[in-house]
Order: sequence, then C-alpha cells, then structure tokens
Amino acid sequence: MKLELSEKQQALLKKLPGVDRILERTRVEFADVPRGVLLKSAREAIDELRAGIMSGEDVVESADAAESTVMDRLRLKTAEAMSPKLMRVVNATGVVVHTNLGRSILCREAIEHVVSAASGYSNLEFDLDTGRRGERYDVVEDLLCEITGAESALVVNNNAGAVLLSLDTLASGKEVIVSRGELVEIGGSFRIPDVMAKSGCILKEAGTTNRTHMKDYEAALGPETGLLLKVHQSNFAVVGFTCEVSTANLAALGARVGVPVMEDLGSGVFVDLAFCGLYWEPTVQDSVSAGVDIVTFSGDKLLGGPQGGIIVGKRKYVERIKRNPLTRALRIDKMTLAALEGTLRCYRSPDTVMEKIPTLAMIMQPLFLIRDKADNLTKGLRSLNHETLSISQRDGVSRVGGGAMPLQDLPTRCVAVVVRNMSVNKLERLMRHNSPPIIGRIEDEEFVMDLRTVRRAEIPAIGGAIDHIIRTEGGL
Ligand SMILES: *Cc1c(COP(=O)(O)O)cnc(C)c1O
Repeated sequence: MKLELSEKQQALLKKLPGVDRILERTRVEFADVPRGVLLKSAREAIDELRAGIMSGEDVVESADAAESTVMDRLRLKTAEAMSPKLMRVVNATGVVVHTNLGRSILCREAIEHVVSAASGYSNLEFDLDTGRRGERYDVVEDLLCEITGAESALVVNNNAGAVLLSLDTLASGKEVIVSRGELVEIGGSFRIPDVMAKSGCILKEAGTTNRTHMKDYEAALGPETGLLLKVHQSNFAVVGFTCEVSTANLAALGARVGVPVMEDLGSGVFVDLAFCGLYWEPTVQDSVSAGVDIVTFSGDKLLGGPQGGIIVGKRKYVERIKRNPLTRALRIDKMTLAALEGTLRCYRSPDTVMEKIPTLAMIMQPLFLIRDKADNLTKGLRSLNHETLSISQRDGVSRVGGGAMPLQDLPTRCVAVVVRNMSVNKLERLMRHNSPPIIGRIEDEEFVMDLRTVRRAEIPAIGGAIDHIIRTEGGL
C-alpha cells in the first residue's frame, strides 16, 4: 500500500536531520558513549520523528526544531542504553514471592556474606584443614543437615534442576509412580510429566485427579518401578471430595517394597507457618522425619534465600546424585553458596528468624504496620499539594506468591491514586518507567499500591515518582 502524504508532511520530512549531522553534534556531549550505541540511538530517534510526522502525530516548525527534537530523544535513548538493565524496583503488588520481580529479597547476613565472598578469593573448593581440594557443597551441607535432620545434602541451580537431577539419578529408564492429582505445572514451562520425560523416566500415573488411595499406588507398583514420587501441589488446591496418601504412609510403602521415595516440596519451609496463624505448609523437617529418601525444594521461595535447588535425604541416594555428571552442569557458584549460608545461619536462631528473613517478615507483617505505611504514603502524597491528584485508601488482600499457599489471604492496606485527565493505563506505564520503577496494579480505574511489599525506605520514592509525573505530564 502506498502512503499518500500531504504536501505539508512532505515538507516536514525534508526538515529531518541526517544521521551524520546528529553524530557531528554528539561529539562533545556524548564523549563517553560508544559510537555503536550513539549510531543506533540516532537512527532510532530520526526514524521515530519520521514516523511521527507521517502519522500526523508530530509537527516540527523548522529544521532547527526537528534537530532539537531528535537531540532530545537521543539523550533519552542513550541514557537508557547506558544504564544497567537489571535494576531495583519497588514492588507494590502485594505478592511477596513475586517470580517476575526476583522472588526473595536476601537477608542482611546473606548480602554481607555475598559481598565478602565475591570481593576476594575464598575456600570454595579448598579444604583449609588438609590443604587439599575440597567440595563446594561442604559449605552448606552440615547446616542443611542440622536444620532438616537429613543425613546428607546437595544444592544445585534451582529446584527444577534438583527434580530433574534426582529423577535422572534414581529412576532413569524406570517407572516413576505419581498421583494424578500431583501432575502439576509450576509456570515457566516446568511440568512434572515433561521433566519426567527429560530425565528418561517413565511416568506411571496412580489414582484420580481428586482421590488417590494407598491401593492405587500398590496397584501401580511392578518390576519396572524405580521411584515413588510425591509432588507438593504448590500453586493450586483440590477441595471437596479428596483423598491423598500422606507423605509418611507413602514413605512406609516405599520402605516395605524396597523402592525409594522422593518428595518435591516446591517451596521448602523450615518453620511451621500454621503455628503463625497461616495455612499449614509441610516443612522439610516433616518430610525428612516421615522417612522420605530424597526431598527437593527451592532456595528462593518461602525459604527466603537465593535461587537454588536444595536436595536433602538419605546418604546413599544423595551420594549417587553427587556423582551424577549432570550435577556438574547444574552447579551453583560462590555467590549463591554465600547467600545460602548466610540465610541458613539465620535459621539457627528461631527467635529472630521471622524478622531477619525479609520474605517471612513480609508474610507475617502485622496489619497495623502496613496501615502505618499506607498512612505515611498518603500523608506524603497529600503534602505534594497537587489538585489533580486524588488519593484514597482501601483494604485489600496480598498473596504469598511463588506458587505457595494459593488459598492464603493476607489482609492488607492499599493506597489508590488517580490523576485527573490522565488515563490509569498511562499512569501505570509512567510509574513503571520511573527510576526506580514502581510496580502496582490497576483496579477499578485506579492505580493501586499494596503497602505490604513496599519497604518503609521506599515510600519517598513513590511520592517522588507521582510528583515528577504530574509536573511533567500532569493531566495537561
Ligand atoms: C516452584 C516449584 C518448582 C520449581 O522450582 P524452581 O526453584 O523455580 O526451579 C518445582 N516443583 C514445585 C512443586 C514447585 O513449587
């Protein structure tokens, strides 16, 4: 299709500067920017203005005006291209373990330990007693065993890797029996049947979606059975007419027939959250003491540590997993180990762990503290004195996230804002593009921020973002 341009548009297009002309002007101001970045940004800035003129969105009065518009856009583009891509954001979604926003925030001990381990050489694989080569997993194995009661432990890149590696080691080429109610998809394309296939195991389903009995497992057992697998449902719940075989009973069945039993716990908690008034979530210690041979769980979900896949269990199985060549491919680095050790050390003090681990602290945060943060933000926003800004508060519900405790409602307090003459979609977009980005959600045509996941020190940044948005774009 040929575009018919008006004479005015054609005249405007002739005013556009060339790339060479723009690059010429950038010599001094952009001395620190690599030429490739400048060239790409200059081309994009010119192309954008051209497209704007052709669509009628942009009008430039003169060649000088065209050039300065291009220069303005070039400044924004190079600034963006030169700033780091991974950045801190303010999580105002109320989802505590938000996979898209980096899951768990590390505790202070973990951060300090990472900085120290990464700033110099370390004994990562060096045994200081013997002066010989050591095992990197030794750094956290004792701690993991002490906390969970397991005989042996190993940590790999993430829990998906831990499940793959364990299946591959224990049951490759054999049948793995799983309840039909536990063939879960975690998101990010982790599905139990697919992981099973990748590890060379043959999935043998037992029972039905809502009810699986001991007799179903027994009927599925055969000479080809290599493993009994239990998978924590994590991100969904089956309610109503249901039945499942408990971890302890499945472990007992495995012991009776001489087949190893593995449990993928997903979240992996070390503290009894039911004791804290939340839904009961099986702890790693429960599974270990129930006699499960291998337990796998994430490091960065409810545990509140770095990304990692933790495997704990009976020594004879963990030793086999350690010797699997796949373990080398899933190996964690020193920063993960340092962060995990720092996190695990906090669990040694049960009296303070709930305050020290940010994930647990945010889940347990009392409503009065969240309300106080909401009041604080509201006050800050009112003091901006923008008459186009309306601010209100409402009760809401935060989520644990990370595919954990899907039924758990966490009562919370939210601040909702509207800017007169600005669509809520635009406001949401501008908040997302702020530095730091403020991530909230749109609800009933308002931009809503849940204060549970906003840290007190971040509140002024939210006020700053809204002030900046109204001053620069504010409902004009
Ligand atoms: C989250 C989850 C996984 C994947 O763990 P990652 O650490 O994200 O790799 C596996 N299984 C279950 C049951 C989960 O909940």
